[in-house]
Amino acid sequence: MTVLIKGGTVVNSSGPFPADVLVDGATIAGLAAPGSSAALSWAESATTTLDATGTYVIPGAIDAHTHMEMPFGGTFSVDTFETGTRAAAFGGTTSIIDFAIQAKGQSLRSGMDAWFAKAEGHCAIDYGFHMIVSDVNSQSLDEMDLLVDEGVASFKLFMAYPGVFYSNDGEILLAMQRAASNGATIMMHAENGIAIDVLVAQALARGEGDPRFHASTRPSLLEGEATHRAIQLARVAGAPLYIVHLSAREALDQVVGARDRGQNVFAETCPQYLFLSEADLARGGFEGSKFVCSPPLRDETHQIDLWRGLRTDDLSVVSTDHCPFCFKEQKELGVGNFSKIPNGIPGVEHRLDLIFQGVNAGEISLARWVDVVSTTPARMFGLFPRKGLIAPGADADIVLYDPNAAHTFSAATHHMNVDYSAYEGMKVTGKAKTVLSRGRVVIDKDQYVGAPGSGSFLKRGLNGLLR
Ligand SMILES: [Zn+2]
Repeated sequence: MTVLIKGGTVVNSSGPFPADVLVDGATIAGLAAPGSSAALSWAESATTTLDATGTYVIPGAIDAHTHMEMPFGGTFSVDTFETGTRAAAFGGTTSIIDFAIQAKGQSLRSGMDAWFAKAEGHCAIDYGFHMIVSDVNSQSLDEMDLLVDEGVASFKLFMAYPGVFYSNDGEILLAMQRAASNGATIMMHAENGIAIDVLVAQALARGEGDPRFHASTRPSLLEGEATHRAIQLARVAGAPLYIVHLSAREALDQVVGARDRGQNVFAETCPQYLFLSEADLARGGFEGSKFVCSPPLRDETHQIDLWRGLRTDDLSVVSTDHCPFCFKEQKELGVGNFSKIPNGIPGVEHRLDLIFQGVNAGEISLARWVDVVSTTPARMFGLFPRKGLIAPGADADIVLYDPNAAHTFSAATHHMNVDYSAYEGMKVTGKAKTVLSRGRVVIDKDQYVGAPGSGSFLKRGLNGLLR
């Protein structure tokens, strides 16, 4: 079975060039200049031909931060691995890396097994896992080594959420030391949760229970402080550090300083921090609850810094932190008390389109767009060169992206299993037209034509960006 993708502009993180792409089975067999003898012979022999005229042919995107079926505050994020990966595919994402969770008092192994059970046989696209370590002890430290061998080489720790996922500085240092010895990357939720809990209690005591107080009780200074502390701890331990969902300039400044002195520190931001703001949290009624996530949305001026960070590679990756909770009955758990609103914003379907608006606006280049949504996540999380580029031998995860397709985001038309859109009514230009996952067409002309369970587990290697 061969598929010829003909007439498009291939865009890797190195830039665009015209090329026809031959797919043989699950992998890319070759690229050829349009009209060359190779391209002409492929046109005669290919089993099927996809007309890519007018589209960008890009490596399938990788969302390195999702939470499918995640427990939070007595409820679960509503996308299953089946619905969430299908929605991802609609948006041009062909791999996700989800977070398996070690519950307090449990082993890493039991958390890992629980996430395998949720995902196996249900995913429309390929999937891998990071591991959340919420109970640092000698057993879980030993288990980290085993998970690295199994292809789970990234561990997330929390400086936020005391009593749930929180680790203190000593525990964080221990996990970082272990990562320094086994090659793993430590991912950090960097907000000072101990101080935040004080501010939350004070706000609630004053009767400030509306969603907008979610932002004022989690000030950007406490993200900057935690980011600084995480970087220094990683420096002491000699471990690579990846700051998840960076939202604020105070945190970015810390990352810039660390990278400038050559430390292995990386950071991702998310579309919600580039396109939404605390003004959305302050929308009337209980509307603001739709925008509750942590770190919280910031004032709009931070967006300028975040786009600059993406341009300068101080922010390396855009992930979604997709964590959908319905407005009805789930977000509503926090009516009158913002601290009870499940934290999370749906977004796995819209990341490529949203960041492409940055290309349209001149914020980042076309090549950089591919880099932050696909190539760098592949390199950061041990999937390169199998994923993240269009080249012979790579998996045939390919998106034919129509840069001129205009459409409007809405809960009425999106494919995520959630009853609202954080981007309701937003008009965008650019859309995935055809999506291949390891050589199989999974999305064509707005239809899902794949099969649940065709996605495979990704056994990942170590971080390929260390210096
Ligand atoms: Zn998250």
